[in-house]
Amino acid sequence: MGSMDIPTEQWAQVIEKTGGPVEYKKIPVPKPGPDEVLVNIKYTGVCHTDLHALNGDWPLATKLPLVGGHEGAGVVVARGDLVKDVEIGDHAGVKWLNGSCLACDFCMQADEPLCPKPQLSGYTVDGSFQQYCIAKAAHVARIPKDVALDAIAPVLCAGITVYKGLKESGARPGESVAIVGAGGGLGSLAQQYAKAMGLKVIAIDTGDEKSKMCLEQLGADSFVDFAKSKDVVQEVKNATPDGLGPHAVLLVAVSEKPFQQAAEYVRPRGTVVCIGLPANAFLKAPVFESVIKMITIKGSYVGNRKDGAEAIEFFRRGLIKAPFKVVGLSELQMVYDKMIRGEIAGRYVLDTSR
Ligand code: NAD
Ligand code: ZN
Ligand code: ZN
Repeated sequence: MGSMDIPTEQWAQVIEKTGGPVEYKKIPVPKPGPDEVLVNIKYTGVCHTDLHALNGDWPLATKLPLVGGHEGAGVVVARGDLVKDVEIGDHAGVKWLNGSCLACDFCMQADEPLCPKPQLSGYTVDGSFQQYCIAKAAHVARIPKDVALDAIAPVLCAGITVYKGLKESGARPGESVAIVGAGGGLGSLAQQYAKAMGLKVIAIDTGDEKSKMCLEQLGADSFVDFAKSKDVVQEVKNATPDGLGPHAVLLVAVSEKPFQQAAEYVRPRGTVVCIGLPANAFLKAPVFESVIKMITIKGSYVGNRKDGAEAIEFFRRGLIKAPFKVVGLSELQMVYDKMIRGEIAGRYVLDTSR
């Protein structure tokens, strides 16, 4: 096993029991297996999924104790004997899909997020809220050296996921997409990817800070405040030139309501892409309108390795600029508190050195 100087102990944020709190403490540095690498995480984004894991509100159990986190950007410091195509010193990203079997029907078709035996970072295996994190070499994101590790961190889950979701929507340059939950981590990146893909953006979220960010920083063409609007459906339709609604809807919100509303404002022949995962939520659409409008409703789940590489390449080319705030790894609980209150515009990124 090749390696650099690696300490035996490190700082981490650990969930001892579902519901929390997270505990900032020292734990041993793990050793990579033959097909794994050890990544010295420099920066890691905080995704709302990490909060679902802490709260245990999805119908899938986490490992315990658990180190959360799946937007980890850092430097490879050790690798197992079977790893040939990742070098010590390379920059790499730990994604939600930490590993998959690579042999099942889905993995063989590069649909690895659908693998029935996945390893999920910060959920079924320890993730990036620690200074040294293990990931399967085949799955780590390759990060070019000219890309800043703090800014790329949110791309490793949020960026890849919304880029894939936009592709799944089938929306073409010049068409409109509504981004629901636009002011959050996924939503802010979704606006930038959508603009880079030549789409017009209707941002939907709430509050002056998020409205300003969407319209002035992220390039949204219009903003609908779901909490203030008297008729969200009509306002979204009105935001398209012919009043017939957006060609695609990307649902990245953390509440159920918009999942039951999107079918009403999506354009005939349009596509609703469900990405957000609010707890205990159900999709609902009127059968009559869905049929006579010939709409498509589908789910989209992270992305494969190629989607990941493409999303990073968009960023490297300077096309993706989404706001993020950097705080120490020790401050994770504060980030969760803000997330619960819906107060985060964009993304928080943790610096693992403090
Ligand atoms: P976030 O907390 O940063 O953002 C969520 C946003 O939704 C907030 O800005 C909030 O104001 C907004 N919102 C809440 N209710 C709304 C409503 N009724 N209408 C419009 N907006 C509303 O969360 P995030 O990190 O961007 O994650 C969003 C969701 O996506 C989470 O449920 C997360 O688990 C899920 N997720 C899914 C995938 C996937 O592959 N499908 C990947 C990553 C995250
Ligand atoms: Zn995520
Ligand atoms: Zn598989």
